[in-house]
Formats: sequence, C-alpha cells, structure tokens
Amino acid sequence: MTTNMLNLPSFRILDMKESEYDYRFLVETTLPPPSYCPKCGTVANLYKNGKKEQLFFDLPMHAKRVGIFVKRQRYKCNDCGATFFESLPDIDEGRSVTNRLINWIQETSLEKTFTSVAGEIGVDEKTVRNIFNDYVNELEAQTDFRTPKWLGIDEVHLLKNYRCVITDVENKSVIDILRKRNKDNVISYLSKLRDIDKIELVAMDMWNPYKSAVNTVIPHAKIVIDKFHVVKLANEALEKIRKANRQNVTAKERRQLMRDRYVLLTRSKDLTDFDDQIKLQVWTQNFPLLGQAYAF
Ligand SMILES: [Zn+2]
Repeated sequence: MTTNMLNLPSFRILDMKESEYDYRFLVETTLPPPSYCPKCGTVANLYKNGKKEQLFFDLPMHAKRVGIFVKRQRYKCNDCGATFFESLPDIDEGRSVTNRLINWIQETSLEKTFTSVAGEIGVDEKTVRNIFNDYVNELEAQTDFRTPKWLGIDEVHLLKNYRCVITDVENKSVIDILRKRNKDNVISYLSKLRDIDKIELVAMDMWNPYKSAVNTVIPHAKIVIDKFHVVKLANEALEKIRKANRQNVTAKERRQLMRDRYVLLTRSKDLTDFDDQIKLQVWTQNFPLLGQAYAF
C-alpha cells in the first residue's frame, strides 16, 4: 500500500479498512527520529519509549469519513527524563484532526451547518464550532491593527439596511462592516482605530455624515470623493436636462434624442464611431443648454 491514497507524505500506510461510511487507516510516520530533547535541548541522548495509537480525522474521501490511526513513537530523554511523542507536521493536535481538515472545516462551515459538517467527517459538532470560531477570531485579530494609509468609507445595502463598509483602498480589501452608517457610529468606529495619524487619504461618496465624521476624528486626512459617485451625479444631471429639453423639440426629434442619449453619456474621446461624433455635434450645437451640460 502506498502513501498516495492519503496524499500525506509524512505517513506510511500500514493497513486500511473500508466500511459503508468509513475509511480507517493505520499509519506510522516516515520522518527521521528527533535529534534533540524538546524539554532540555540535549542533543542525541534519547531512547524509544513505546508506541501509542492515536486517532485523527482527515478530509472525507469518496463521500466516506476518514480516520487515521497513527502508531506514534514515544521517546524519553536520558538527561532530563522527559517523555514526549514524535511530532506530526500534518496534524493539529489540539483538535485531533489533520491541518488540511481544519482548512476544509473553515471553508465548508461558511455554507453548511456545524452539525452537517460534523456528520460528514466524523468529528463532533462542538469541534467544528470551535475550529470555525478560532478562524473567525483569527480573521478579526488580523483586521484590528491594520490601519490603512488610504481609508475607504462606502456602503452596501444588506439585510434591509444600509451598512457602512470600511475598506483599505490601497490593498483593495474590506476591513470592517458597520451595522449603521450614521455619523455617531462612524465617529465611534474611527476613534477606535490605532495609528490614526497614518491615514493620509479617505475616499468616500458624497454622504455628508461621513465627511463630518472624518473631519472630527481624522482632521489631517485629505478627503477624496470617489469618481464613480461624481460621474453618476453628473450623468443624472445630464439626463434631467435632456428630459427638460423634450418640450422644445418636435415629436420626431424627441424620439431621436431618446435613441441618441447614449452619445451624451459617453466622453467624446470614447466615441469611436464617426456617426456618433456627428450626432453629438448636432445635439450639443443645436441645443446650447445640452451642450453646456455635456461639457461640464
Ligand atoms: Zn531532556
């Protein structure tokens, strides 16, 4: 039997049993014996001190649960008398599962219940929940002390409410999502950020509470209005003028203007079609107000 079936090079498979729902492997390690005592550091004064079978769970295989029994070597140190087991690089000993199963649980728990994840792999629901909670805490710890140089404040509509989204613009990542986007909430969040003097720019839309919160907490930061929001407002204004203009034109022109509106919403340098350039000229020259709005 080869190590290939588990695809864990640190184990050699000694035996394998298969039943309706489970695979059970018996393995030993392929690693060289330890060269020093982890307790006192003495080099090469160790002797073997028995073996013990320990069970670890692994990724499901062919829709069956996989348990790995490791015949694990124990050593004793001649110098300090400490006993210890050989190390297992592919195993998370705290949770009694393989490291790759930890990753799998973290991802799968985002989509499935803890109970169904647990059932698929053979561990109990509490272990799955603990592994997932560790993961969430890890992610939270990572985001806490990362104050970006360019802070972004935006919003998403989530669960029937506008939520304030805090981003790291330079590294294109989301830092946090706040339940509410009002000024007090944003002020209280910004006040808790560390190294606030590191923030140079704050990008946002034109929502006034954001601006006023930033001016209060990070007065030294330059506020940058996201181009997307400016262009959006400009396009809306142009549409308003185009519609207001409908009264001044014939019915035929009105229909034509409706069809040609896309040229008014495109920069002239992006109008590659010659006909489109002509249309733009006709509308902006014959209707100066429209021409002015377009130029703006
Ligand atoms: Zn020792």
